[in-house]
Amino acid sequence: MAKKIQNIKGMVDLLPEQTPVWQFIEKNINEVVTSFGFEEIRLPIVEYTDLFKRSIGEVTDIVEKEMYTFNDRNEESLTLRPEGTASCVRAAMQHALLNNQQQQKLWYQGPMFRYERPQKGRQRQFHQVGLETFNIKGAAIDAELIIIGARLWKKLGVAEHVRLELNTIGQLAERRAYRDALVAHLEGVKDQLDADSQKRLTTNPLRILDSKDPQTQALLDDAPKLIDFLSDESKNHYAELKRLLDKVGVTYTENPKLVRGLDYYNDTVFEWITESLGAQGTICGGGRYDSLVEQLGGKPVPAVGFALGLERLSLLVQAVSSVAIAFDRADVYFVAACDDEDYLEAFSIADKLRDALPQMRLMMHCGGGSLKSQMKKADKSGARFALIVGSNELAEGAVSIKSLRLADEQMTVAIDELPLKLKTLLAD
Ligand code: ATP
Ligand code: MG
Repeated sequence: MAKKIQNIKGMVDLLPEQTPVWQFIEKNINEVVTSFGFEEIRLPIVEYTDLFKRSIGEVTDIVEKEMYTFNDRNEESLTLRPEGTASCVRAAMQHALLNNQQQQKLWYQGPMFRYERPQKGRQRQFHQVGLETFNIKGAAIDAELIIIGARLWKKLGVAEHVRLELNTIGQLAERRAYRDALVAHLEGVKDQLDADSQKRLTTNPLRILDSKDPQTQALLDDAPKLIDFLSDESKNHYAELKRLLDKVGVTYTENPKLVRGLDYYNDTVFEWITESLGAQGTICGGGRYDSLVEQLGGKPVPAVGFALGLERLSLLVQAVSSVAIAFDRADVYFVAACDDEDYLEAFSIADKLRDALPQMRLMMHCGGGSLKSQMKKADKSGARFALIVGSNELAEGAVSIKSLRLADEQMTVAIDELPLKLKTLLAD
């Protein structure tokens, strides 16, 4: 027998029992970002590999070992996008959205691809929502992006279970000076660093700061601190951001070791973290990246953004959310266990009901079967009411409505009065 074809490891199916949680999250995201004046941008899933090499950086985990890169039939190197910022910047530049200092507030969503070890909250195809802003200087927009996150957690009923970590990594030149000092210091204790950190000493030394190895962390206690290398301008930006957050009551923890994995950040970096999901606790991360547009061949453009992971957010919502999510599929299930002539009539009653009550979720029974088997399907649909058409009642121009929640509630209603009756019943 031929081997059954399965999904690719780490690229999962979302079954109907899971999609209501996703729809709940997506709807709330849409509402929150729209309420802040963000506009949606839709971007391709595949880009030239160079885009990611030049933006994310050659010596990052993503570019070194996580990208799905392949040659197309024309021998061009293409990559399934591992994140959205690079494409968003590419599109904004290409379509002149950044010219003449135009301010942009953009958001996108969709699948991202990284070749990682699949585990809870970590997949090879995963989904992000990203927000990116351009040509907006100053800390207020950094604060706004953080406030958008805070408002979203509240709407999703998970605010009590996430915390904000904040840091500044200064300007590129400041970070370079710090990096040299850090490397000089750590070279002296190189043998005692964990293997990854030893390697990072030459490739991406700042990433050593977020090493999970306790001995490496202990060695870092005596190492130079980034804050001592920052200019007044960088420090002021950070102070202003904290002032704004304090003013609106968004709480945060400062984490001087938070550096983020990507090369292109400067000044503000932040992460929203939960303790409720185990190891994969970062649900959202972002920061300022004023040099990325220039790095990709444009003029310098102030930019700041964040991306959140929908898998982790959905796990969190399922684990702790205080908001009830509706899993039912229908308000009313139309049971029509009758002969062909009467079914024809029932079918048209259903269609007229859809005109009269367009908001109502009505499932018309199709496919025949006994009254009993149709009632079973009505129950399973989660509908509050079954609308039952039988030949006797129909002859008198009436149908029955039976509550599927309250045992004895059943009534006969004239077909003319059906829309009004259902409207009243469903409004309760
Ligand atoms: P991590 O340290 O967990 O690998 P990251 O720093 O690589 O995260 P970002 O590139 O900042 O992640 O992406 C933003 C968010 O996207 C993360 O906070 C996370 O919620 C989500 N995310 C990233 N990689 C994955 C993945 N492989 N599977 C599921 N979600 C992911
Ligand atoms: Mg990662």
